[in-house]
Formats: sequence, C-alpha cells, structure tokens
Amino acid sequence: MSVATLTGSCPECETDLTTPPLVQGETIACPECLLTLRVEEIQEGRLSLQAVEVQLRDWGQ
Ligand SMILES: [Zn+2]
Repeated sequence: MSVATLTGSCPECETDLTTPPLVQGETIACPECLLTLRVEEIQEGRLSLQAVEVQLRDWGQ
C-alpha cells in the first residue's frame, strides 16, 4: 500500500476518524458533528485535532 492513512479522534464527539494524509495546520470536518478540526500535530500516524471556530471571511493568510 502506498497510501498511508492517519487516525485521530474528534475532541468534541470522540468519533474515531481515519483520514488520508494531512499536513499540520490543515483542517477537516468531523463527519459526525460537522465541527471543523485543525491538525495541531501528527505523531506516528496519530492526529492531534483541535476544534476551530469557523470564521467567515478569513482572508488573513
Ligand atoms: Zn465530532
């Protein structure tokens, strides 16, 4: 298998998540509670996820 997956759990609803490879700072949506989660850290295939407030018009980057 050439495609690795990452695992983590939603800090809000504790759903187990399996994701395609992500990079730090990337955001995903929890399929269960639909919260936006940001990848804080990736360690040995485990994601540390942090819920983020979705900001409208975030053009700051
Ligand atoms: Zn969730």
